[in-house]
Amino acid sequence: MRSLLELIQETDGALAVDDPATGEIIARVKAYSVDEISSIIQKADAAQPEWASKTAKERANILRKWFNLIIDNMSPLAAIITAECGKPLWEAKGEVTYGAAFVEWFAEEGKRAYGETIPSFAANKRVLTIKQPIGTCAAITPWNFPIAMVTRKVAPALAAGCSIVLKPAEATPLSALAIEQLAIEAGIPKDIFKVVPVTNPAPVGTLFCSDPHIRKLSFTGSTQTGKLLMQQAAQNIMKLSLELGGNAPFIVFDDADIDAAVEGAMDSKFRNAGQTCVCANRILVQESIAQEFSAKLTAKVAALPVGPGCDDAVKIGPLIGPAAQRKVHQLVEDALAAGAIAQTGGTAHDNEGNFYQPTVLTNVTSDMAISCNEIFGPVAPIMTFVDESDAIQLANDTPYGLAAYFYTRDIGRVWRVMEALEYGMIGVNEGIVSSEVAPFGGIKQSGLGREGSKHGLDEYLELKYALIGGLGKPS
Ligand code: ADP
Repeated sequence: MRSLLELIQETDGALAVDDPATGEIIARVKAYSVDEISSIIQKADAAQPEWASKTAKERANILRKWFNLIIDNMSPLAAIITAECGKPLWEAKGEVTYGAAFVEWFAEEGKRAYGETIPSFAANKRVLTIKQPIGTCAAITPWNFPIAMVTRKVAPALAAGCSIVLKPAEATPLSALAIEQLAIEAGIPKDIFKVVPVTNPAPVGTLFCSDPHIRKLSFTGSTQTGKLLMQQAAQNIMKLSLELGGNAPFIVFDDADIDAAVEGAMDSKFRNAGQTCVCANRILVQESIAQEFSAKLTAKVAALPVGPGCDDAVKIGPLIGPAAQRKVHQLVEDALAAGAIAQTGGTAHDNEGNFYQPTVLTNVTSDMAISCNEIFGPVAPIMTFVDESDAIQLANDTPYGLAAYFYTRDIGRVWRVMEALEYGMIGVNEGIVSSEVAPFGGIKQSGLGREGSKHGLDEYLELKYALIGGLGKPS
């Protein structure tokens, strides 16, 4: 594969990529024009029938090679993620493993795009369905998982027999380009999967939604951009997958294993410095245990080492950029002014760069901006609740519905609360739920469709029904 160094050496490109830990420009990659992307889409569309005509096993063998190459290149890929996205190297390696798992999973799952025969409504007719690749697809990915969000979309598309053109986030094109390079080495035709970095995403979104060759768009990003794309996609009634923002509640009941809940909150809240759409955004703790839980969480948060991701000891890297740092700080300031108390942190970190101190806030209330907005930073706001119905009401009081977590040891409560939470994904006594085997996605304003699992393949397939009549009678 092209080394990170070689990517960096592409000095003539219009898209500058910086290291969020230092602000230094580490690469300049080619930015594609709308016209260039338009012709790339045409090529992807022309190449798709041949890819679709391969057997699922032939495609699986190529995807399997791609998986092996990603795993073989774990260290260089992790270094690229850390360099452009900021997350610590150990976490970046975890992302490579997670990202590769979608390729492995969908290589196999592509073989199981089963149709069905349906008991007929008439004696001389037969009813059946088949599943076929939807065609040429487009994808838009965010910067917080610059490899995993790519493979989570591209692997099912390719396994299903689709071609796909992907625009990575402006902050993190290098990871996507490295993954594309490995796909080519694995034997995936270059017109079937193409990465197109740009400097300005809006015109590409418009192109993806208006080009008649594109039959499906898969987007991960903010709810605001998702709404815009959904409006634009209406003109062609395009099939859409949207994985949008969240406002995850993390509920701790008084019968919970408190130490396990603290561990779960650390995992859920501080992964990627709090920059994931499934990060705990509101920690709801039952009044009687609030003090104990807050003290234990604060002790762990205060001890988190902050610094550049390339440093082995670091647990919390930088935020993606200055605007992200300002936004987090504004939310914290606003909460403090409204009566919240910083148990630890509460300010930007002393380090140069986009660092923010890991923070625990208590006395938080549901009317504060920090309770209603996705924080996307290492800040844990704690509020209290009285009883189970109060917890459920607080948890569901948001237009979002991506992930929710709760801790309890009462089996009846496990079922009641799991069923009552209006979210697409629920962690019960678990702070991290993501896995390639399970359906990832949200309800309400958190999105449409599912990624991963057998359901993730269906997003790239059309269901066709055939009625076969005129069977006649035996002669
Ligand atoms: P975030 O605030 O997390 O960066 P965004 O929704 O702005 O979320 O970005 C997620 C992805 O959406 C990125 O790849 C970005 O370039 C892209 N994007 C942002 N605005 C638009 C737009 N108007 N049309 C198409 N894509 C967009």
